[in-house]
Amino acid sequence: RFSTAAAAEEPISPPVQVNYTQLLIDGKFVDSASGKTFPTLDPRTGEVIAHVSEGDSEDIDRAVLAARKAFDEGPWPKMTAYERSRILFRFADLIEKHNDEIAALETWDNGKPYEQAANVEVPMLARLMRYYAGWADKIHGLIVPADGPHHVQVLHEPIGVAGQIIPWNFPLLMFSWKVGPALACGNTVVLKTAEQTPLSALYVSKLLYEAGLPEGVLNVVSGFGPTAGAALASHMDVDKIAFTGSTDTGKIILELAARSNLKSVTLELGGKSPFIVMDDADVDHAVELAHFALFFNQGQCCCAGSRTFVHERIYDEFVEKSKARALKRVVGDPFKKGVEQGPQIDEEQFKKILRYIRYGVDGGASLVTGGDRLGDKGYYIQPTIFSDVQDGMKIAQEEIFGPVQSILKFNDLKEVIKRANASQYGLAAGVFTNNLNTANTLARALRVGTVWVNCFDVFDAAIPFGGYKQSGIGREKGIDSLKNYLQIKAVVTRLKNAAW
Ligand code: NAD
Repeated sequence: RFSTAAAAEEPISPPVQVNYTQLLIDGKFVDSASGKTFPTLDPRTGEVIAHVSEGDSEDIDRAVLAARKAFDEGPWPKMTAYERSRILFRFADLIEKHNDEIAALETWDNGKPYEQAANVEVPMLARLMRYYAGWADKIHGLIVPADGPHHVQVLHEPIGVAGQIIPWNFPLLMFSWKVGPALACGNTVVLKTAEQTPLSALYVSKLLYEAGLPEGVLNVVSGFGPTAGAALASHMDVDKIAFTGSTDTGKIILELAARSNLKSVTLELGGKSPFIVMDDADVDHAVELAHFALFFNQGQCCCAGSRTFVHERIYDEFVEKSKARALKRVVGDPFKKGVEQGPQIDEEQFKKILRYIRYGVDGGASLVTGGDRLGDKGYYIQPTIFSDVQDGMKIAQEEIFGPVQSILKFNDLKEVIKRANASQYGLAAGVFTNNLNTANTLARALRVGTVWVNCFDVFDAAIPFGGYKQSGIGREKGIDSLKNYLQIKAVVTRLKNAAW
């Protein structure tokens, strides 16, 4: 039985309405060239929230033209870095001022718990924008001591027009990871949002213009991947493309970039992250953290701890306690207080997850709890756990992107390292142990971009994030993310009187 404890209570968010549904090009809201729109749906019911302008290649052309002009003719890259920084700081203040409306819009369009959006994600958006605002006037080059009578400067310049394609699982955080570093470094941007969640980016982009952003510096095109997204990735006047989403689409982006103008590419892709629980662990604590690592955000996280490896000595106890925790998970209307899990994003993902649950059962894993939809309306899925999962099973190999935990058994450190690394992905890993040597060994042996030791999903603005193997190319957040948006220019000047 799933808790619907909050169902009777009043919604806790402020009332929210949709103000912006058009494309944002050259600082103005405009209809798409074709006049077409598409509906964005409420995942609680499948009902239409709003009809949004549908951009395609013609609109991408208009947006790129605006971004190109704002870059080539200024004022953005020509403004002082301090002025750019102040606009981004003002933007962060406006985000804070409108925290609750932004969060409500995000919950409505995405289905994530309002408390998560209002208390974690929107504050994080402001935090990330301040982090990048702080960088804007601290980006500087080098003087290199080259051989010979040469004065060598290395300049760090903006790349130009950045195309950015983001997914639906964290629409606002993906906005900040992409737009923040691009603008801080002096680039202009064309952003293609996910077709499932176009609303919050339009709202906050309007705030960015209110903060003083010059026209054309950020352009937002709502629309679909194979049309608007592909047009952006293959555009000849786009200098850089950054993408977050599935590995399959990431490969298409790389190909489109290569076949057009060889624009530089950064990719943040899928994962099948191991969460390793050693036998010295406090089982209750480990269960709670492993639960969070998988079920957070309805299981829709690229770095979800979706292979829970548990030492055989504590395996049975761990499975029992994980079941009890899953049964306590509060699933329901994300606008209600205390709700931990809302609906999945859309019907396609909902069906895909139920299909994977069937693969789990048919493949011989033991269904410990859950396994079905919850209720008969919207895209709610029961928190689901499989035990006795084997490495070769589909549910242990492929990204499910839903509230389905797979618990695997191991008995030795060497073995678990080998098995954890036996994946096409390498995004993240969790390690749960009190033994320093074990933690250090795992931290070095795991071929992943992030290892969380006795914690999970810690996403500070300064911590780099990205993948090994087919989980991506490049890093976002932190100092490393700036490199994605900078060109390096060497200026070598011959000195006339080297020996003075
Ligand atoms: P997707 O990769 O297809 O979509 C992500 C973004 O790419 C969206 O903005 C989409 O419009 C765009 N896109 C799609 N096809 C494109 C193309 N041909 N050219 C250019 N842009 C294109 O992901 P999805 O269909 O929303 O979800 C499918 C699966 O991807 C999920 O089940 C999940 O496993 C994974 N996923 C991963 C992440 C992540 O953060 N790593 C995020 C969302 C989805």
